[in-house]
Amino acid sequence: MKEYRGLAASAGIAVGPALLYLPDETHSAPSATPSGPLDPERETCRLEEALAEADRQLANVYERARGEVGEEAAAVFLAHQEFLADPDLLDEVKRRIAIEHVAAEQAVELAFEQFAQQLETLEDDYYRERALDLRDVSRRVRRILAGVQGQQMLVELSEPVIVVARDLTPSDTAQMNKKMVLGFCTATGGLTSHTAIIARIVGIPAVVGIGEHVLEVTSGQSLIVDGHKGLVMAGVDEGTAQRYRRQHDAEIEALACEKAAAQQRTVTADGHRVEVVANIADAQSAELALEFGAEGVGLFRTEYLFLNRQSLPSEEEQYREYRAVADVLGDRPLIIRTLDIGGDKQLPYLDMGQEMNPFLGWRAIRLCLDSPELFEPQLRALLRASVDRNVQIMFPMIATLEEVRRARQVLDKVKDELAQEGIPFDAQTQVGIMIEVPSAALMADVLAPEVDFFSIGTNDLIQYSMACDRVNEKVAYLYDPLHPAILRLIKGVIDAAHVHGKWVGMCGEMGGDLEAIPLLLGLGLDEFSMNSPSIPAAKRLIASLTLPQARAIAKEALAKPTADEVRVHLSGLDLPRS
Ligand code: PEP
Ligand code: MG
Repeated sequence: MKEYRGLAASAGIAVGPALLYLPDETHSAPSATPSGPLDPERETCRLEEALAEADRQLANVYERARGEVGEEAAAVFLAHQEFLADPDLLDEVKRRIAIEHVAAEQAVELAFEQFAQQLETLEDDYYRERALDLRDVSRRVRRILAGVQGQQMLVELSEPVIVVARDLTPSDTAQMNKKMVLGFCTATGGLTSHTAIIARIVGIPAVVGIGEHVLEVTSGQSLIVDGHKGLVMAGVDEGTAQRYRRQHDAEIEALACEKAAAQQRTVTADGHRVEVVANIADAQSAELALEFGAEGVGLFRTEYLFLNRQSLPSEEEQYREYRAVADVLGDRPLIIRTLDIGGDKQLPYLDMGQEMNPFLGWRAIRLCLDSPELFEPQLRALLRASVDRNVQIMFPMIATLEEVRRARQVLDKVKDELAQEGIPFDAQTQVGIMIEVPSAALMADVLAPEVDFFSIGTNDLIQYSMACDRVNEKVAYLYDPLHPAILRLIKGVIDAAHVHGKWVGMCGEMGGDLEAIPLLLGLGLDEFSMNSPSIPAAKRLIASLTLPQARAIAKEALAKPTADEVRVHLSGLDLPRS
């Protein structure tokens, strides 16, 4: 038996065959491709699709570059498009697929390189530049091919598998047929990496940050994932597998009882009302949230609707999706966050340019305020979905008061347009902001009068306050929600909002952390938004505490100078935490 240890990212047990998913290395890892020997016809088909997609991408890049650097400098992308239609070059790629029986990726690499080398022999700067361009186009097409093939494999999953990957991108998980995914194991990633968050939202056991050696697992090999302990086992004997299967079955049964018990309103032992709500990504996860006892949704991450496709979703399509979720929720609160892309979430059809520091760059509200063609249709769709439903709109990554005002101005403009067009919407739709940038936390008293509510996004607030990348394991020691600096920021935000009569939620992972919940309750948090599987235990814990008890816990925690001392204080409390 071989054991792999990593971070316990999502609880639960999975027993089943591995699927090694390495989309960027598909031709060097044939065992990852379940579809057998190469079929030239299929490869040619993939090639055609990838060429068409590259052409679409380049047309977008050209348009954007033309606006930014002028027609002359942007013309290079027209030249790139011409390569995609060059008959000699394409004949050579197809010849290699047909005669040499190589994968489309390899045929592109070899044929483009052959033509690039021919150009280089011409000893003219112009042609040498063209050789560089050819290699650039080759890389673009191969990247698309890798995505097309790799993601297709995830879409078409028809047997239950444990997905083993270096890491999974948001568009990988959006594409994936999650009903067939028993578990996740990734070589990289921390507890708040995208894979970890999605795994917890949908309740799939996951171990992340295992290290590259986990990629030695082969597709079909039988695995056990213990998401409680952060342990993955390969080559186990039948006795051990049986034991884990029994544990899995018992957990599933216990879960059914837990869901049934979690349907009551959340009040503390002394009758103080707070809300326990869910983080979701689509209508399917909204249904799951209600099963787990969610009293509403505190964060609907809309970006998943924009990933996993080749063009922007239209206003109508967005309206249908938001309305479908609103209908699942009925009159329960549904907080929908406007588009939060950029950082680690890139849209393949939108060229956002290369950035040195994407997490500090042109993302979320910054990008939306600069892109009315993205922002306005989304706001129209959200407002339309609000009719007779409790839809609330939330802006992400707010750093300044001006951003709040600008976002609200766009919202008002969109409301005026809808009114003029006679399209119904709820004019009283509540508007809130995420507090996830330290400047916003420190200015909470100034921001509070301008909004209806705050929701604290600790995932980003911690990374920006502690200056540590949330997905970099090497600095994970700094990424601590219980650090006194974070607790002080949270207290300041809650106090400032309450002075102005506004309520405060938390939709970062800390909001569902059983260790932190008593402390957050004591600080006065009004709404706890979390991944659905965490809801039953969170409700039980809150119901076991009185408000004065929680306040005393918070007071003592705030007096501690280090995260470790806060943790010792909290873990020493005798509370129901499972
Ligand atoms: C957060 O930053 O806490 C948050 C909820 O947003 P996301 O994890 O989507 O960045
Ligand atoms: Mg965030």
